[in-house]
Amino acid sequence: MTGGKDHMDATEKDIDKALRPLSFDDFTGQGKVVENLKVFVAAAKHRGEALDHVLLHGPPGLGKTTLSHIIANELESGIKMTSGPVLDKPSDLAGLLTNLEPNDVLFIDEIHRLNPVVEEYLYSAMEDYRIDIMLDSGPNARSVQISLSPFTLIGATTRSGMLTSPLRARFGISSRLEYYDSALLTSIVQRSAEILGTPIYEDAAFEIARRSRGTPRIANNLLRRTRDFAQIKGTGTITREIAQFALNALDVDQNGLDEMDIRILSTIIDKFKGGPVGLGTIATACGDEAETIEEVYEPFLIQEGFIKRTSRGREATELAYQHLGRQMPQHLRG
Ligand code: ADP
Repeated sequence: MTGGKDHMDATEKDIDKALRPLSFDDFTGQGKVVENLKVFVAAAKHRGEALDHVLLHGPPGLGKTTLSHIIANELESGIKMTSGPVLDKPSDLAGLLTNLEPNDVLFIDEIHRLNPVVEEYLYSAMEDYRIDIMLDSGPNARSVQISLSPFTLIGATTRSGMLTSPLRARFGISSRLEYYDSALLTSIVQRSAEILGTPIYEDAAFEIARRSRGTPRIANNLLRRTRDFAQIKGTGTITREIAQFALNALDVDQNGLDEMDIRILSTIIDKFKGGPVGLGTIATACGDEAETIEEVYEPFLIQEGFIKRTSRGREATELAYQHLGRQMPQHLRG
């Protein structure tokens, strides 16, 4: 859920739901994370206990929400969904917690954005399955303790570094999701195409996959847009030519970089002589929020070797210069 789903209309949401894997066996990639989770889920089920609290972190669109649903399905438990910024006051949290059935899952997206007062309440809930609620205020103030059913908190975050240490310490399981390689994304695209009833050649699925920034959500979105091109400009079948045509029309370049990635790279190179330049300065020059650049764009640009993060700021690499068709000045070459 982290990033990108707020603007979908009803049909898009339905398609999104239909494409979502429902079991561990249906979920492609993230091998080690999934293998471990399978063991922890099976053990908790075997003991009839709530699964330990789980923190899922990593860039948006890699499957944190999907995995949380899968965990609840595999536990045969219910799941309630919320997100950090929505939980305004302790009573919002108390309302959710007191409605959980034994061994249910509570999913909190963007958990790094919890209000600190709400977060405090979460500590005893996670640790001892109880919350202390203040009734009245002033001289009549008193606190009552409410026992909760054992439950599993699954927290998702794109910024694990922003979690407070007391909160982080209360997660028994912490897993980092990584970008997917093109082979894995190809099979995700093929699976999604099959669900959508759209014929697709393997080389076309690969073309979409390798230009999807390692991210299943982007791969699925590009597949849907490519399907539109195939239906209107072709025969309905997605061929490599149609995929290339569609991706070019969508301004997704050969490496999968989109317009914003290119804007970030050209800002560093053209406006700041290749860097180092601070994130805030890049954000202002690109007209986007520093947080979005840091969470959504930068991790992929760093992983693919287009930018480097140094103590003095962000620097463009030789690969970035090449990608934009520019010569890297001699004195910057390392
Ligand atoms: P996050 O919560 O990390 O932002 P989501 O769980 O919402 O990401 O995943 C985004 C979309 O990508 C989902 O709609 C889902 O269909 C798809 N998806 C994510 N991971 C996988 C996967 N491993 N296999 C197939 N589809 C996936």
